[in-house]
Formats: sequence, C-alpha cells, structure tokens
Amino acid sequence: WTEGSAAQADASMAELAALAETAGSQVLDALIQRRDKPDPATYIGSGKADELRSVVLETGADTVICDGELTPAQLNALEKVVKVKVIDRTALILDIFAQHATSREGKAQVSLAQMEYMLPRLRGWGESMSRQAGGRAGGAGGGVGTRGPGETKIETDRRRIRERMAKLRREIKEMKTARDTKRSRRTSSGIPAVAIVGYTNAGKSSLMNALTGAGILVQDALFATLDPTTRRAALDDGREVVFTDTVGFVRHLPTQLVEAFRSTLEEVTGADLLLHVVDGSDALPDQQIKAVREVITDVLREQGEGSGPPELLVVNKIDALDATQLAHLRAQLPGAVFVSARTGRGIDQLRERLAEILGGLDVEVSVLLP
Ligand code: GDP
Repeated sequence: WTEGSAAQADASMAELAALAETAGSQVLDALIQRRDKPDPATYIGSGKADELRSVVLETGADTVICDGELTPAQLNALEKVVKVKVIDRTALILDIFAQHATSREGKAQVSLAQMEYMLPRLRGWGESMSRQAGGRAGGAGGGVGTRGPGETKIETDRRRIRERMAKLRREIKEMKTARDTKRSRRTSSGIPAVAIVGYTNAGKSSLMNALTGAGILVQDALFATLDPTTRRAALDDGREVVFTDTVGFVRHLPTQLVEAFRSTLEEVTGADLLLHVVDGSDALPDQQIKAVREVITDVLREQGEGSGPPELLVVNKIDALDATQLAHLRAQLPGAVFVSARTGRGIDQLRERLAEILGGLDVEVSVLLP
C-alpha cells in the first residue's frame, strides 16, 4: 500500500528493494497497491492479499516485505493469507541497522529501537494468555521470586524488556556526554570540521574517499548506520580538514530510530561546513534535499542553535546522467557543485570550493580571536 504520487511510490519501492538486498534477500517481484488509507485488517486489502498469495506461489518466495509499518494484527492476518513470513519496512530497517552497528553507542541505540518495536508484538500478548502462578520457576531465564504475584509470562517479559530499555537509555545518555566532550575537544583544536550529510546511497562514503583517499568501505548496497566515520585529511593547499561521514537518511525512517538518528546528527551542528550530498541520478533529488534540510533544521532548533553551519550542496553521480538531465539539474540547483565520486569528474572544483569556503572561515576565526 502506498500514499503520495506514483513517482514517490516508485522511489520508495526501489529503496525498499535495495534495503532488502542489503539485508541479504533476493528480490523476486513487487506489487503496488494504491488506496486512500491502509486496510485495517490486512493492510493491503483482501483482493490484493489474494493476488499476493498467487505471486508468492509463482515465484516461490519465502518472505513478503511490506513498505510501511503494519500493526501486529495486520501482520498476522496477512501471514494467514499469503502463508509465508511477512515483515514490514520497520523490521527490515531495524535488522540492517543492527547488522551494521559497530560502536557501543550505535549498538545500544539499535537494541533500544528493536525492543521498542518488539514490545507490542510479543506473541500471545493479551487475553489469550493463560495465567501462571506467581513465583513458579520455569521459562527461559525465569526463577523463583523474579515474577510478581499473578503476573503472566508475557507481563514478566514485558517488564524485563522495559527494565532493560531503561538501562540502555541511561547508558546511551552517558555515552552521549562522552561524545560531546570528544567533539568539543576536536572543535577547539582549530581544524575545520566538514560533516557529510545526505540520503543513504547518495555516495557519501565514495565522496569522502575521493576527497581524502581514506579507503572507506563503499557498499554496493544501502548502508544504514548510526555510526559516523571521521577522517582527517589535507586539502590541496595543505590545509587540514576533518571529514565526518554522518548517518544516511532513509525514506520512512522507523519512528523507533528517529531519536537515535537525531542524536547522531548532532555531530553536524558542531561542524564548520555541511557537505550535503545528493544523488543526481535519483528520481526526486529535490525531495531528498528538502527532507534532509528539514531534519537538520529541526535538530538545530532543538539544540537551540540558530542558523547552523553553512551548507555546500554537492550533486553526485553525474556520470549516470545524460547532457539534458545534467543541464536541467544545473539550472535547478545553481549553487551546487556537480561531481562524480566514481570517475573523479568535478572533484577538483569541489576541493577548490572547499578551500575557498574554509579559507573564508579562517579569516572569520582570526578576526574573532584576539
Ligand atoms: P553512502 O551510503 O551515501 O555512503 O553511499 P556510498 O558511497 O556507499 O555509495 C552508494 C552506491 O553509489 C555505491 O554502489 C557506489 O558505487 C555508488 N556511487 C557512488 N558514487 C557514485 C558516482 O559518482 N557515480 C555512480 N554511477 N555511482 C556512484
């Protein structure tokens, strides 16, 4: 099921397919259902669900991935019709984030988001549960005295998960303080900091490599991570710059991850310059740009920061555009720098612009300091 224009639906489905491949799935087929709002029972409606069952049989698919977030009841109802596992976009994205988290903070944030997603979806939750005697030993990790009087197994599980979530929240808060300190130390070192932002798959890592020669792993798939990568490099004029490859934006980011995502984005507010990378070959580049800017503005506002760092828009993947498309984008985005991180086209101009902008910043700094 989808809302919005046909182009938005296509872009969202293309991203969902790429996400599924990133998670290790092979995508066999896609079905789009257009309605005003999701069907309360099966999300896509019973007719479409039957059609989906036929597709599952024809292709031999073992999983259906829905582009959205389904209620537990909708998931169950749809599974009954299609007779294979059904997962939604949220579960898929959480899975990818979990696979890719490397830092302690990133892992803790993803665990927290997964628990939040899982909590209302614990199987058997509700009236159908048979009550178990309080304090009876049994069940995984249970034990005498761990269960309150008259509590069901599910209630116990829920309570345990809530406790674990509270603990994770405290830990994340501590880690965040440590990160803030590290960042302010970096800021005070006087080396300009450039934060690379943009949608996932826009080519942020590739561009960082093209600029720094750092050799960061470039994924041939969507790489969703909450862990920023920081690299120090010298520009042509010998000026040192710290580049941070921030978290990639994903369409319909699960609400459970929004908080973690924003907290990671706080990296950008301390930067001297935002390098906003856009995939020029995307069907809707201006929508991507708008979405990224909106989130950054929100984060800045929440932090009580006014305007935030200046932004340099970089349109990447121009090698994938024909002359007409490129001319159109140039007219649409006059202030942007057009590059191909893959072929290296435009990278020299980008370096020059960076040196210019950061050079200008140096002047400001020297004026400010006595
Ligand atoms: P990130 O998620 O924004 O860090 O994006 P990556 O740097 O990992 O790149 C995502 C995908 O886009 C990879 O498959 C890259 O090979 C591809 N890519 C990156 N830059 C370019 C480019 O300039 N041209 C083309 N055609 N593909 C690119």
